[in-house]
Amino acid sequence: MIDINKIREDFPILKREIGDKLLVYLDSAATSQTPRQVVEAINEMYYRHKANVHRGVHTMSLEATDMVELTREKVRRWINAESTEEVVFTRGTTEGINLVASSMGEMFANGDEIILTVMEHHSNIVPWQLLQRHKRIRLRVVPIDGEGNLNMAAYEDMFTENTRFVAVTHVSNVLGTVNPVNDIVSIAHRHGVPVLVDGAQATPHMRVDVRAMDCDFYAFSSHKMYGPSGVGVLYGKKRWLSRMTPYQGGGEMIGNVSFEKTTFAELPFKFEAGTPDFVDVAAFGAAIDYIESVGIEEISAHERRLLRLATEELTKIDGMRIFGTSAGKGAVLSFLVGTASAYDVGLLLDKLGFAVRTGHHCAQPLMTSLGIQGTVRASFAVYNTEDEVRRLAAAVGRVSAMLS
Ligand SMILES: *Cc1c(COP(=O)(O)O)cnc(C)c1O
Repeated sequence: MIDINKIREDFPILKREIGDKLLVYLDSAATSQTPRQVVEAINEMYYRHKANVHRGVHTMSLEATDMVELTREKVRRWINAESTEEVVFTRGTTEGINLVASSMGEMFANGDEIILTVMEHHSNIVPWQLLQRHKRIRLRVVPIDGEGNLNMAAYEDMFTENTRFVAVTHVSNVLGTVNPVNDIVSIAHRHGVPVLVDGAQATPHMRVDVRAMDCDFYAFSSHKMYGPSGVGVLYGKKRWLSRMTPYQGGGEMIGNVSFEKTTFAELPFKFEAGTPDFVDVAAFGAAIDYIESVGIEEISAHERRLLRLATEELTKIDGMRIFGTSAGKGAVLSFLVGTASAYDVGLLLDKLGFAVRTGHHCAQPLMTSLGIQGTVRASFAVYNTEDEVRRLAAAVGRVSAMLS
């Protein structure tokens, strides 16, 4: 068992007050809080190693480069990629998906089809729609059942000779559903179709092994896994990355430049134009160290306990509706209570110190399919406690009585 009180000491923000109430932070699916160890790594970069990377011969530049490349190796190990050539630093999940949509998109033709699911985050919908400005590409959408599980039979039936790509979230940020990505990938590969997995809600909570999954691309964000904002990772199989054109042009990503002909750098630098966010990339390495020091399996088990307790406690409240009841779901709990709007519930909970998310959670098509405008979402991380969950349930009970 992990010592939550000791872990909470690593997160000074958890001691702050909202009005005169102690903060209860239940919005980690939007962004997690950051431990002291990571903030110190950021400070260390600014105080001792700030120099541009991959360019200088001077000592500090070499140190900064080493720290960025050390994080790349930590990421490689963390997701079990074959090579650091397959680990591209981005600004986040969104940029990773845009990169793939843009560069893979050049290989698509009119009439090609891309399979998505109804539970995608907007960042795994809109980049594919942007492609439709240039090409007549058809998006096909896998539906879900009442518990929030993908309809896998419908998915299998969607493949045609025109299917070119599958893009699917690993874990739903609204329903918590953990999609069967191994099956999704193997079905797609049987049809010769590559798969991108949106891992934004998976990497903070479970061990991810891109080689076991055999996905072609995997995108995620540092800020949701106790790391700094402004950094993400796109994993891509070398056989795809090497064929893809660069997403952006500039410094760092070139071999030789002349006005007649420019050649591109080796992987992964071909996809990292301009000065990267080297301070935060370096500090992201400290976030991975932090997760490893606690243990991702322990984090998962703790969050599952919190989710189970929250589900039990909230279900006791009159008029409670929980969205997403898939077996083995992740640590997010979306709900509505009585006739109260999500917004009103969120506003009153904030007055009591609880930070929860309200609204469509960047998943409007999913809201439409559920026939609602939005939900209240509580999401859990390593630093949340059972006591906080009980207080949330009591507060939701109070708030819903006030609003009914
Ligand atoms: C947060 C999130 C994203 C977007 O991540 P950014 O860090 O904002 O780029 C994409 N997909 C899912 C499932 C998410 O939860």
